[in-house]
Amino acid sequence: MTHQSGRHFLQVPGPSNVPETVLLAMARATVDHRGPEFKILTRTLLERFEEAFGFNDPVVMYPSSGTGAWTAALSNCLSPGDRVLAFETGHFARLWTGIAGALGLDPVLEPGDWRSPASPGRAEEILKEDSGHAIKAVCVIHNETSTATMSDIEALRGALDAAAHPALLLVDCISSLGSVPYDHKGWRVDVSVGCSQKGLMLPPGMGFNVVSQKARDAARAASLPKAYWDWEPVIAANEKGVFPYTPPTNLLYGLEVALELLLAEGLDAVYRRHRRHGEATREAVQAWGLETVCRHADHHSDALTAILMPDGVDADKVRATALKSFNVSLGTGLGQLSKKAFRIGHLGDFNDLMLSGTLSGVEMALELSGVAFQKGGVAAAARYLIDTAEVEESGIK
Ligand SMILES: *Cc1c(COP(=O)(O)O)cnc(C)c1O
Repeated sequence: MTHQSGRHFLQVPGPSNVPETVLLAMARATVDHRGPEFKILTRTLLERFEEAFGFNDPVVMYPSSGTGAWTAALSNCLSPGDRVLAFETGHFARLWTGIAGALGLDPVLEPGDWRSPASPGRAEEILKEDSGHAIKAVCVIHNETSTATMSDIEALRGALDAAAHPALLLVDCISSLGSVPYDHKGWRVDVSVGCSQKGLMLPPGMGFNVVSQKARDAARAASLPKAYWDWEPVIAANEKGVFPYTPPTNLLYGLEVALELLLAEGLDAVYRRHRRHGEATREAVQAWGLETVCRHADHHSDALTAILMPDGVDADKVRATALKSFNVSLGTGLGQLSKKAFRIGHLGDFNDLMLSGTLSGVEMALELSGVAFQKGGVAAAARYLIDTAEVEESGIK
């Protein structure tokens, strides 16, 4: 392997950059997960999760990917053949629907254009038509990471309420939690599905469900095999500070520090930071004369930006150039956006100069790849960052 000097820019929208203090915490020796030390860690983690996000419901953690946490949500509270309503916001919505089908559920995917959020209006219509309540769950991706489009979960909850429909609300907050405001409790989400490697600033390997009492009650009567994913043994063991099987010990060391970092910065400040970086990136895209995949100004994601390439340009070639020439990893176009778009992750442990460096790498790669675009995106983003920078009280701006 050849050595590339300087820091690699990992700007895919997950896994995100892991802070050094988190990496160092994970380098500690692994301990007995049934010993006294570990019990204290479990309690601390659950308290810190609550302090940071105010779920007001138990968090069930698994050694798993996000896909595992999707599987957990469905297999706990549903029965074979249950109808599940989902919205085709993009690649991740399709994947979750695919898991539902593979588990023997009956997923109904409301078609979408991969550039738009889930429609609360359509949700309300569909749920009102379902007077027999065949639909048992509504599955939504909060931040559709393939298109950088956010759906309005509060409005979707409103659609369920307006239809007086008893279906469970299952929400994937994998790439939104810790990056943009997410309110499990306020929106009365029944199962929030998350994992470690996005806004939580950890490596991959830990998935989790946040489960409402309504979801736990449904789970008692539901008959899909729960096996490894059963919530109740985890909740019961966690009350004693342990897990029913081996948890990802060293990732949990990292989680303890990652939550501490989020709390120290303050969640409102974390959200403002992501908003600012999202806005700055969109300023750059506009100056480049390029188009974002998301076509709704009110639904842009602040965790990442997905950019469409002009016709005839292979987005993966631009990414390959960015990696080879400037050592920056950008996210590939997923599913039907393959080769048509690339994605810039600006979530997690990130700051203004990391964004400037990333955008500079993108702008240089666009030029090197011969893409027809206008220069000046980096300057436009810098303008925005300067105009919105926090300055010392006594300093001269
Ligand atoms: C990353 C991601 C996933 C998948 O997570 P894996 O850990 O790769 O299984 C699911 N949903 C969303 C919205 C994501 O961003």
